[in-house]
Amino acid sequence: MHLCLCSARALSRIHLFRDCSRWLLPVSLSLGIGAALVRDLFGYWVHRLQHSSRWLWAQHEFHHSEEHMNVTTTWRHHWLEIPIQMLFVTAPLQLLFGLRPMTLAMAILIFQVPSYFIHLNSRIRFGALGMVFACPQTHRIHHSVEARHIDKNFAGFFTFWDVIFGTYYHPAKDEWPETGLASGKTVRSLPYALFMPFITWASMLNHTSLHAASNAADYRSTGQRP
Ligand SMILES: [Zn+2]
Ligand SMILES: [Zn+2]
Repeated sequence: MHLCLCSARALSRIHLFRDCSRWLLPVSLSLGIGAALVRDLFGYWVHRLQHSSRWLWAQHEFHHSEEHMNVTTTWRHHWLEIPIQMLFVTAPLQLLFGLRPMTLAMAILIFQVPSYFIHLNSRIRFGALGMVFACPQTHRIHHSVEARHIDKNFAGFFTFWDVIFGTYYHPAKDEWPETGLASGKTVRSLPYALFMPFITWASMLNHTSLHAASNAADYRSTGQRP
């Protein structure tokens, strides 16, 4: 009798597991897609703020200072980029989805793949699909020195965020602009790269702040980055 009861319990556990396992994949998939969408949305707005605020632009402009954009530009970020991303993208994502540390680490790693792809110096275009997914051509527009491309195509993966929020620029078939800073500013040394935003912030705070402010105003009115 006791043996029968144990067997019945074991069987019911197996059935329960089967019932749960049936939903495991769709639930995990939905969570993964949801987290990817939200992560890209947060990334979009942080990136957009980095362009609209001259204080944040001072930190982000190093990424745009690459004149020959290629796959290594993926990692051409000022070191302050890591705490900014952790604070405004990773932490809110963790709060919303309660991801395990290992899952979170995997998600961060997985998101590096499209980042490598969009920085490729390869004339890959998605045509109409470019309004959904980012590709090397749409992201090259973001790095362009041309005024009509300034502050366009912020999304790192789902370009429909740009479409929804009015910042999408659909490139023409052979549109492949020069990249770098519209101001002509270049970065030629490691110490300058390390301290670049601090130098800009210091100049904004001291006697040149009026000049920096007018440059920032010019940027907004003419599309020329300071
Ligand atoms: Zn940018
Ligand atoms: Zn980029």
